[in-house]
Amino acid sequence: MNPTVLRTASGVATAVGRREGNEDAFLAQHPLFLVADGMGGHDAGEVASALAVDAFRDLLGRDSVAVDELTARLERAADLVRSIPATPGHGAGTTLAGVAVAEQGGRPYWLVVNLGDSRVYRAAGGVLEQVSVDHSELQELLDEGRLAASDAAGYHRRHVVTRALGPQPQVEPDFWILPAAARDRLMVCSDGLTGELDDAQIAALLLGEADPQRAADRLVGAALLAGGHDNVTVVVVDAVDGPGDDDSTVPAGLLGAHDEPDDDTLPRAAARTWDEV
Ligand code: MG
Repeated sequence: MNPTVLRTASGVATAVGRREGNEDAFLAQHPLFLVADGMGGHDAGEVASALAVDAFRDLLGRDSVAVDELTARLERAADLVRSIPATPGHGAGTTLAGVAVAEQGGRPYWLVVNLGDSRVYRAAGGVLEQVSVDHSELQELLDEGRLAASDAAGYHRRHVVTRALGPQPQVEPDFWILPAAARDRLMVCSDGLTGELDDAQIAALLLGEADPQRAADRLVGAALLAGGHDNVTVVVVDAVDGPGDDDSTVPAGLLGAHDEPDDDTLPRAAARTWDEV
């Protein structure tokens, strides 16, 4: 077997929760694992998230994708969302977060993308870390030190996002690139999960269940039991074989023009790690 090829296994679960309809959408097939959380009046949110993930569908079934290919689909997705008829004060938009399998120099990488407050987490070596950084009013207040982390759960505008696909003229995704190794697990979720469960609860469920489908089912079930106030979607993707985790070097140039991240796109793994439960 070619040790540089990354094979994945995945599971996905979604639930409407206490909402009237499910405005979350997902794509979960190698090499793309995405979650979109739509917003807008009437059924605009549902249409927005569905159109956004559809823009990536032609990449499914490939071994890997490149960052420029993702960027092109993000632009297409934003155009599709902007084409949705708006109701006054309620223009359509959607978050989009996910992970793609990328390849450079014969090595596989996880290419993580985010716009909004859906999230990507990684479990590697028995430790869970949040990879993506929310584009939200809450995250900005935390970053500026104007709100204590202990007050975040009760913040009344925690659902206000500062970047999304559709409402803004520019598409400004953040990217992260992580070396992929056998036994890595990544999770992509909508805020219906992280609004109900804290990171320790997520770690316990995600690290405690080997099968990716059962892990996704258990996480969604726990979010519903905890209140299920919002739509909740979880995609779990495992690297079932690939290189060992001995080489963690990321080659220069893999992200191209995205190699110099903004301050607000730097990974914050150090603040968000847990020991294996
Ligand atoms: Mg939501």
